[in-house]
Amino acid sequence: MHTKTLTELSALLHSKQLSATELAQHYLQRIAASDLNAFVHVDPALTLAQATQADILLSQGNAPALAGIPIAHKDIFVTRGWRSTAGSKMLANYTSPFDATVVERLGQDGMVTLGKLNCDEFAMGSANENSFFGAVKNPWDKRAVPGGSSGGSAAAIAARLTPAATGTDTGGSIRQPASFCGVTGIKPTYGRVSRYGMIAFASSLDQGGPIAQSAADCALLLNSMAGFDARDSTSLQHPQEDFRCELNTPLTGLRIGVPREFFTAGLAADVEQAVRAALATYEKLGATLVDISLPKTELSIPVYYVIAPAEASSNLSRFDGVRYGHRAASYDGLTDMYKKSRTEGFGDEVKRRILVGSYVLSHGYYDAYYLQAQKLRRLIANDFQSAFAHCDVIMGPVAPTVAWDLGDKADDPVANYLADIFTLSTSLAGLPGMSIPCGFGQGEKNSQRPVGLQLIGNYFSEAKLLGIAHQYQSATTWHTQIPAI
Ligand code: GLN
Repeated sequence: MHTKTLTELSALLHSKQLSATELAQHYLQRIAASDLNAFVHVDPALTLAQATQADILLSQGNAPALAGIPIAHKDIFVTRGWRSTAGSKMLANYTSPFDATVVERLGQDGMVTLGKLNCDEFAMGSANENSFFGAVKNPWDKRAVPGGSSGGSAAAIAARLTPAATGTDTGGSIRQPASFCGVTGIKPTYGRVSRYGMIAFASSLDQGGPIAQSAADCALLLNSMAGFDARDSTSLQHPQEDFRCELNTPLTGLRIGVPREFFTAGLAADVEQAVRAALATYEKLGATLVDISLPKTELSIPVYYVIAPAEASSNLSRFDGVRYGHRAASYDGLTDMYKKSRTEGFGDEVKRRILVGSYVLSHGYYDAYYLQAQKLRRLIANDFQSAFAHCDVIMGPVAPTVAWDLGDKADDPVANYLADIFTLSTSLAGLPGMSIPCGFGQGEKNSQRPVGLQLIGNYFSEAKLLGIAHQYQSATTWHTQIPAI
């Protein structure tokens, strides 16, 4: 049952060959038997109550396509019922009085929530090792990280603990874990998916999106998730579209831009080989490769690691021990209460970013760092516009290596930051990006670890990207492979 696509599950549910309750039970059992630490909160009674509602909806006829299909949410989306922790001690016991817009929309379409997925604390990380609830294991090799920050989401899809998941991507957190776990994920154009109820990290970059087994499944999920939301001040007013509309568009004449800067000395040979093989497959499918340049690629790391911490330091000031979350048990006056609550509630990486962010925003340094970073951000976005004059889509690796070992980079923040080199620029430009599985590398332990192909499109090209990905997935089987766990 858990190998079926969302379209197949939808057909079984609508034809009453399967009930939403049976399906939810099946996945709850798989979750209970798993030792990946992908979920941080499950509540079978809540899930089964939603499944009963979905069965009623299905019995009434003309239920939405997603009705009765289970989904799990990255624990950065707030949910009524399930705790909403952002992977932090600060919110370890927090339950939201409302659902995030994304959760609400998927729920209105009849999807059944399986629970909340582990993630890096406040979505800060590339390995899911910054979670207060412990690291997540990569289902392909339990010695490896699943990627981050949506590590729980990607691991849960790979291990078929849920057929659908939500994730968020601020600098790569949908694409990179999707790549490390051999699953499909899309970060839409900034502003297409509502941020309302998504616990904020860096508001000018944060963007929610689906992670699933295939591009076709992601298209179906995005149909429900995307759309204008008056409660998000940066939500875009763009006509609603069916993201499946280009799934069957042939690739003949497609110009694929291959950025020189994505194939440099830092790229591991096994990743390069898999990505080049995928590009060759695209050529066979009728596309042509165009050599392009994104000259500011390297600058995306310093630029992102100024802007994202700056915004984080501001966003996280709301966690003061008064309004939300953890408060120290004993303290001496108000300032001491703030200090102790924040010292105890935040982990190291979050503190590091608050410090860096406060520094670059402070008087005297604002012009030197923050303002400069903002100017470079514009130039990075301009690079893409120049490139799109010569190509329809950009392709390259998602990350320079396959998943590394748990613990390997846990104490080395800079090593983690450097691994974001190929995903950050897309986020800074606000462009849509995808990761699709395209093969395996060896990793250090000579094991089988997935490689992802990154697809980057121009603004609002999600349907096109999903179509380009679907054509590849119709010709290959990487996305159908399941780890032996
Ligand atoms: N790895 C990046 C960071 O640590 C991106 C995280 C994300 O996209 N949420 O900030």
